[in-house]
Amino acid sequence: MIYLDNNATTQVAPEVFDAMQPFLTTHYGNPSSAHALGRESRAAVERARQEVAELLGARHASEILFTSCGSESNNWAIGGFLEQNPNRGHVVTTRVEHEAVRKLCEHLSEIGCEVTWLEVDKHGALDLDDLRKVLRRDTGIVSIMLANNETGIVFPVEEIGNIIREHSDAIFHVDGVQAVGKTQISLSDCPVDLFSISGHKFHAPKGVGALYIRDGVKLPPFIIGGGQESGRRSGTEAVPNIVGLGRASKLATQSFAHEKMKRLRDRLEESILDSIANARVNGPTDSDKRLPNTSNISFEGILGPELVAALDEVGICVSTGSACHADSADVSPVLAAMKVPRSLALGSIRFSVGRYNTESEIDRVSSLLPEVVERLRRKGTFAAAI
Ligand code: PLP
Repeated sequence: MIYLDNNATTQVAPEVFDAMQPFLTTHYGNPSSAHALGRESRAAVERARQEVAELLGARHASEILFTSCGSESNNWAIGGFLEQNPNRGHVVTTRVEHEAVRKLCEHLSEIGCEVTWLEVDKHGALDLDDLRKVLRRDTGIVSIMLANNETGIVFPVEEIGNIIREHSDAIFHVDGVQAVGKTQISLSDCPVDLFSISGHKFHAPKGVGALYIRDGVKLPPFIIGGGQESGRRSGTEAVPNIVGLGRASKLATQSFAHEKMKRLRDRLEESILDSIANARVNGPTDSDKRLPNTSNISFEGILGPELVAALDEVGICVSTGSACHADSADVSPVLAAMKVPRSLALGSIRFSVGRYNTESEIDRVSSLLPEVVERLRRKGTFAAAI
């Protein structure tokens, strides 16, 4: 099996698994307990907090609050701010956010908040003048991702943060879920107030994430209860998962896989564009403006889900990177926002490499893909569906 779906999730790194194991077996203390087993768990949780803080370049470990996933972090950041500031209900976000932000903002707009949606151009880029124009003194929160999960485009969050500070008093939330482990981040130098991450996107297990809350930024508790996470997110800590998140952060800090991923991604992308007619990359043509691991490619004349299924049959895991279904012929909202022609958007696939992929895997995919695409084009399901 060749796994090229690392933006969906990643395998737990062996180092992460080893670090977690004692906390699933012998070290089962509740971090709030006043005895040796409890203290051991407490120390492990605080060590993990420090490791995450180092990865993100946070000034203080206390700025890291553990959550259950990236979606929770996003919901806490935006929903929490608006709960606390009902008179600052103007929200600014983009058309290309992950569902955990996009659908939340759609919901907020249904219940009375004013949401301004920033458009993107055909490469998926934002026009920062649009942002300048929509910011107001009563804008409460701006939520813009660091890197897009479908195309990999990286938004200039530092510049965006400076614009927000200059033109409004808004809080700036960044969904950093796809960027962590693939780009370098230093939040202490960056005008960002809230930053969401998710463990399973960078080799920690599923079920753990974190929200960076800059010192001085006030958010109401997401879960009320026993007062864990300094009273801001109650519930007994998921110690093994938190330890895993810490170890994965250390791995990402110490052994940066950026260059390797970029080399493999570029090799795959070049080979596809050279060998398959009517294939094109969705996103900036300058691959340095994308995450080093992501390639979203449209193959004209086929349906993305059919290609996913055909590749699955030969042991290759990829995804459409969208809520696109062969039967409904829906296109991804991200590609729709980029105004990718429907005939191309329907046949798009996201390849996302990871730190454990090898050159020979990439070469195998490159050699199998042209034949699979050709077969699907001849089959002609696309013409019937569109
Ligand atoms: N934000 C982005 C950009 C993502 O890609 C994802 C997951 O794909 C999420 C948020 C949600 O993260 P989680 O799966 O941990 O809830």
